[in-house]
Amino acid sequence: MMEFGGLRSSFDCLLIDLDDTLYSSSLGIAQACKRNIEEFLAAKCGVSAEKACSLRVELFRSYGSSLAGLIALGYDVHPDEYHSFVHGLLPYERISPDPQLRELLLSIPQAKIMFTNSDRKHVKRVLEGLGIEEECFDRIVCFETLNPHLFDTKEESSTLPRPPATPEVILKPSITAVETAVRLAGFDPRRALFLDDSERNIAAGKAVGLRTALVGKRVKTKAADYSLESIMNLSQAIPEIWGEKEKKKGTLDDGLAVRSELDSVRSTTPIEA
Ligand SMILES: [Mg+2]
Repeated sequence: MMEFGGLRSSFDCLLIDLDDTLYSSSLGIAQACKRNIEEFLAAKCGVSAEKACSLRVELFRSYGSSLAGLIALGYDVHPDEYHSFVHGLLPYERISPDPQLRELLLSIPQAKIMFTNSDRKHVKRVLEGLGIEEECFDRIVCFETLNPHLFDTKEESSTLPRPPATPEVILKPSITAVETAVRLAGFDPRRALFLDDSERNIAAGKAVGLRTALVGKRVKTKAADYSLESIMNLSQAIPEIWGEKEKKKGTLDDGLAVRSELDSVRSTTPIEA
């Protein structure tokens, strides 16, 4: 049990997604990303713009991402080529410095692990846009961390078995991706809180035993322990992060605890909390 100034917290670690979690989906970065993916698919697979849209949706559904789908289907695509096209041309200028978010992140007493499917360059550009130092995070788990096998440049030796022709791309929402992040974070998943805007990712987190918070949505999902409309509502939605007073029966503290619980029910929507 982690203690902060006499207050106990239910969590030892926070796993935090980047895109549409640390900044609002209303900036349209994800929309721009989808358009770039479709252009990439159209060029790479030689399909029309209309077909590229349905192909992107199908690859996302079946393989978790377009890149994973392209590689699984045998297309010769290097992740760096894909990311430089799909992320390199994003309208990063829409992301403005967010000193309140920076303050919020710095106030979180637990270890903070960024857990994103995006590549390292994208992480860097988004954090720069938000005015947040990478050091705000204890560790960054991103595409390259999850997929070191795709960047192995060692010369192939004829005496060693050849690697599989279609290496697997490890990304959320696969269980392997979540388990890898948990292992790298080095904390008991039951005492780790996972924040993400994707219902699929939250469900995968729950399956691995994490406590889960769906960010940016009002909808309730079965796999989410909490839901919050914005990361900026974190302290109202999940005050337990900063510790909670031990409840003492028969004292004034009881009434205070109940009142604070009622306040949190009113201001937020904890689900199965
Ligand atoms: Mg996201």
